[in-house]
Amino acid sequence: MKGERAILWTVIIYAAIVLTFTAISLLASPLGSQTGKFRELSAIPDHLLYLAAFGVVLGLLGSLLYRRLDLNLIVLIPVLVVITDLDHLPSALGIAQPIRPAHSLIFIITVIAVLALVIRRPDIEAATLSAFFAHLSVDTGLFPPFSPISFAYYELSEYQAAFVALAIIAALVAGFLGRRRLTHKLQQPP
Ligand SMILES: [Zn+2]
Repeated sequence: MKGERAILWTVIIYAAIVLTFTAISLLASPLGSQTGKFRELSAIPDHLLYLAAFGVVLGLLGSLLYRRLDLNLIVLIPVLVVITDLDHLPSALGIAQPIRPAHSLIFIITVIAVLALVIRRPDIEAATLSAFFAHLSVDTGLFPPFSPISFAYYELSEYQAAFVALAIIAALVAGFLGRRRLTHKLQQPP
C-alpha cells in the first residue's frame, strides 16, 4: 500500500486492535486483575505530551539520519504512541478493567502480523514497533506483557532501557527502509 493511504490504514488497524484487546481483556481477565485505574485527570495532558514528544523525536531521528525528512515517520510514530492508551477506555467510562491490556507483547506481535498481511510496508512496520516501545518506555508502573492470555503484571521500569533502545533502533530501521523504498522508486523507469 502506498503513501498516505498506508499511514491512515495503519492508524486505523492499530486503534482497532487496541480496542479489540481491550474488549477481550474485559471478558478474559480474572476479577482480581481488574485493578486498572484512570490516571488523575490533571496528569493526562503532561503524560500525553511526553508520549507525543518522544514520538516526534524518534520520527525526526529516523528521518535526519538519512537526510530525508520523512513525514510518514514524523506523523505516524507520535499518533501511534498516543493511541496506545486507548486501552484505558473502560476505566475512563467507569468500568473495572485489567491494567493496560494493549501494552502487551502479544498485542504488538498481532499488529505487526496484520500490517505485514495488509499494508506490506516494512518501513511502516518498523515505525509501528518504534512507537509501541516508545510508549512502554515513557509509561511507569505495571503492564501485562502476555495479555490477553495472562494478566500477570510486570514492572515497566525494569525494562525501560531495553524499551528505549528498541524504540530508537526501530526508528532508525524505519528511516533506512523508507529511504531505500524511495531510491528504488526513483530508479524505476516512469
Ligand atoms: Zn500507556
